Amino acid sequence: MKKNINNKALFLDRDGVLNHLINKRPPWLLKEIKIYQEAFKLVKLAKRRFYLPIVISNQPDAGRGTISYEKLHLVNKKIMNELQIEQFFLCTHPYDGECDCRKPLPGNFFKAQKINNLDLKKSIMVGDRDKDIIAGNRAGCKTIKISEKNSELADFNVDNHQNLLKLLDKLLI
Ligand SMILES: [Mg+2]
Ligand SMILES: [Zn+2]
Repeated sequence: MKKNINNKALFLDRDGVLNHLINKRPPWLLKEIKIYQEAFKLVKLAKRRFYLPIVISNQPDAGRGTISYEKLHLVNKKIMNELQIEQFFLCTHPYDGECDCRKPLPGNFFKAQKINNLDLKKSIMVGDRDKDIIAGNRAGCKTIKISEKNSELADFNVDNHQNLLKLLDKLLI
């Protein structure tokens, strides 16, 4: 039987981790997309170390009627293409309590696990909000919070993208 060496994932929240927030919201237009330079590096680092980069993101705005689903998917595709991330799992449900995939629920982690036969215990989640960290914890992953505010919920805290890269360089083994 073929051994799956890619059985580990680097799960990534999208907004605030890979691309900048625009006035505390996700980019709604292509021209609003601004990707962190370190994001390109961390995706490459993950691939080199045989961690599958997988985006897990709450995107409730289309469901709330703020933008169209077409725009949402257009913007997301552009971000994924730029970063060369093949797998992304978006929860487009508008509010909590309507699905099992809206973080802090871990449904999308389990979907990704099934598709890729992942070992979630060896996988890592990076997020900028507590709901990312809670979802990652519930899935059994190691968790990293990138924020100016430390979280006791996370296994690791970093305060900026450069320090995130440094930490991942140590953790992705
Ligand atoms: Mg975020
Ligand atoms: Zn959902």
